[in-house]
Amino acid sequence: MKDRREQNDYYNLITPCYVIHNDILQDGIDLLKTSLDKYWNNYIVGYSFKTNSLPYVIGVMRNAGFHAEVVSEDEYLLACKYGFRNIIYNGPVKGRETFRDAILSGQIVNIDSKREVEWLKEIDRDNISVGIRVNFDIEALCPGETSAGDEGSRFGFSVESGELACVIDELVSNGINVIGLHLHVGTKNRSVKVYRELARAACRLKRDYKLNLRYIDVGGGYFGGMENKPKFPDYVQAIAEELHKEFTPDGLTLIMEPGTSLITPPVEYITTVVDTKRTYANNLVTVDGSRIDVDPLHKKTSYFSSIEYNEPTDNREILDKQVICGFTCMEDDRLFTVNNEAELRLGDRIRLSKVGGYTMCLTPLFIRYFPAVYLEQNSGYSVIREAWGVEEYSRKCTSYEGEID
Ligand SMILES: *Cc1c(COP(=O)(O)O)cnc(C)c1O
Repeated sequence: MKDRREQNDYYNLITPCYVIHNDILQDGIDLLKTSLDKYWNNYIVGYSFKTNSLPYVIGVMRNAGFHAEVVSEDEYLLACKYGFRNIIYNGPVKGRETFRDAILSGQIVNIDSKREVEWLKEIDRDNISVGIRVNFDIEALCPGETSAGDEGSRFGFSVESGELACVIDELVSNGINVIGLHLHVGTKNRSVKVYRELARAACRLKRDYKLNLRYIDVGGGYFGGMENKPKFPDYVQAIAEELHKEFTPDGLTLIMEPGTSLITPPVEYITTVVDTKRTYANNLVTVDGSRIDVDPLHKKTSYFSSIEYNEPTDNREILDKQVICGFTCMEDDRLFTVNNEAELRLGDRIRLSKVGGYTMCLTPLFIRYFPAVYLEQNSGYSVIREAWGVEEYSRKCTSYEGEID
């Protein structure tokens, strides 16, 4: 079938923009599936919507056979709108209506708040099944590795305080089946060891609470597509090794909830130089993009960047230092420094790669609206989100109707 989307040439792309490289996206999906096929051939992948829920992206994930992993009412409804029949509903602040809908339609629901226990008790239906998000001291087993550190995670029901035991008792005594444990943990280093410990914890909890589990959900947080970092086979092998001590693939479904490991590698951000300045302190290069599009949380310390000069640079001066600055009119909108390179000039482009996770979903509507997103396939580029303008920005707003002078 001929693709009806208009194909653009690379040099016609309107910058700033994101580009999703189809091959890299598919390679990640394939590697995850083959790893699971090899080590634990009874699995569900729930794609983490919060990491990047651009409609095109979630469509690819749905097509790959993945479930939607959602953590809010809005995300749940988005998954429904884009045709997901299988949803994993997580998070401490689910919506009541969508919670009910998920339970009644047999979705995977991992409870993470006491009000959900009440909501479950109100549902007049036999044989309800849920999973429970678990909170335990994994920091003790992996010192310095978890995002929450010594403060402990804010998610799940605590093993150590006894709240997990209480909630299991309460569910069971109300005839509700506890069929899964959800163990997602945010880490600083995405180490394989963390997932090994999660799988071991699952085995311990199954024994200690005499649970009849149908699934273990080890959550997301993996590396993907990074050289010298663990890859899907490394994680899945370690998880499977531990799970085999207490379970078999016949009896237990392994759930993984990748986000960034799938969608970070295939996405690039492309921006064009619009001005250069020399001051007493610096050589400044202003681009039409911004740090807010690639580092909205202001946490990154480096980028995978490359410069594309739009002509041979033989006649250009080599500069010690050039500072790449964005469009936002904020002093700290400085992306990075280029050292000992040919002088950048108007029309040169800068490309930042591996920026698909926690970027376009967190970009603010600050000063300039959302940039376009293109799909690159066989070196052709098609628009999968047009740039937002004033029309999109002001949708659903009521304006002040006072007299003009
Ligand atoms: C954020 C999150 C994920 C995805 O994490 P990534 O780091 O993007 O892989 C998966 N599951 C849950 C419950 C999450 O909160």
